[in-house]
Amino acid sequence: MPEVDMMVCRSCGNPERASEGAPCDDCGTFICMICGFRGITVCKACRAKRGMPEPANLPPRVAPPPA
Ligand SMILES: [Zn+2]
Ligand SMILES: [Zn+2]
Repeated sequence: MPEVDMMVCRSCGNPERASEGAPCDDCGTFICMICGFRGITVCKACRAKRGMPEPANLPPRVAPPPA
């Protein structure tokens, strides 16, 4: 099985493919494609910094696999 370029999205916290994501509008950290589709273009930290509310359409957190 080939290694995939997974990164943790700094908006929704889910691991997604880095090659399919986009940088945060503010700080350039990784935002996943799913957030991008939903019109979310800034990370959680930058939302807090700007005083923006958490988006109602933020993708749900995927449960981590059991250790
Ligand atoms: Zn995301
Ligand atoms: Zn950011």
